[in-house]
Amino acid sequence: MLLLDGKTVAQHVRDQLKTRVQDFQGRFRRPPHLAVVLVGADPASQVYVKNKHIACEKIGMLSTVHNLAATTTETELDALLDRLNTDSGVDGILVQLPLPKGLSAERVLEKLDPRKDADGLTYTAMGYLWAGRPFVKPCTPSGVMRILEYYKIPVAGKTAVVVGRSNIVGKPIAHLLTEANATVTVCHSKTPDVGAVTRQADIVVVAAGKPRLLGKEDFKPGAVVIDVGIHGTGGGKLCGDVRFEELEGHASAATPVPGGVGPMTIACLLENTMILAEKRAEGNAR
Ligand code: NAP
Repeated sequence: MLLLDGKTVAQHVRDQLKTRVQDFQGRFRRPPHLAVVLVGADPASQVYVKNKHIACEKIGMLSTVHNLAATTTETELDALLDRLNTDSGVDGILVQLPLPKGLSAERVLEKLDPRKDADGLTYTAMGYLWAGRPFVKPCTPSGVMRILEYYKIPVAGKTAVVVGRSNIVGKPIAHLLTEANATVTVCHSKTPDVGAVTRQADIVVVAAGKPRLLGKEDFKPGAVVIDVGIHGTGGGKLCGDVRFEELEGHASAATPVPGGVGPMTIACLLENTMILAEKRAEGNAR
């Protein structure tokens, strides 16, 4: 079984970005700038934000983190977003989700200037994606496609099943696979027999958010299995939505957890920031 190593692919993406950052710095006399907003003190969110900050610094991008208290009001968050939206030195903005109770992610997505939407999650970014003219793509779905491309996994003409239909993961992955000419089926929590559907597929992307939901019996021999799920199991160990250890000798290729899709999400965030910076600096942002 081929191990689809997200760390290797993420490194490849970062290496390419490093050159683009240097070129940008040379042309515009400043680095691309990602502003990250963290509201509250959720420990997992703090780790994600720290990792994103470090990743930016490693390739020469500027990252500023705006820490707001969990008691921040909608008006205060709006004011910060207004400031970042109009700050000509900021290229990308990311609001770390989930937000504390009382603050709405939907409102953030409506407030954020789509030209600075580093996560590719605003309704404008979604609309362009659906129209086949993506400006930036949502990071995790984009990461999944980059892994398939890097390992030259054929997608065109294949049958693919996506388990999960969230706006940020399942739906856009299904869309990107369709754009890549796969024939795609989407399963969700109301699908009566998920295994009966996934067993038909050449490629299965699992994003159900349910630890170790699927195993060997749910995939046909030779299937390609991409596991988006990520769950803490206690003691610092992580697992995905797939029982990875069952796949050896059965699947043809699979992503591990950790070290599969996860590293790609941050790499694609950096890439989105780079794209937004170049578009704005060159004066052709939509
Ligand atoms: P989500 O918003 O909770 O969506 C889960 C989706 O899975 C829903 O569409 C749900 O169906 C479906 N589902 C739930 N249980 C199911 C079951 N037993 N069988 C079939 N479908 C089922 O989660 P998400 O944000 O899409 O994230 C999914 C997973 O990916 C989570 O584990 C998350 O932590 C992980 N994730 C990882 C990364 C990364 O960088 N690696 C990034 C983002 C997310 P309904 O629509 O019917 O409720």
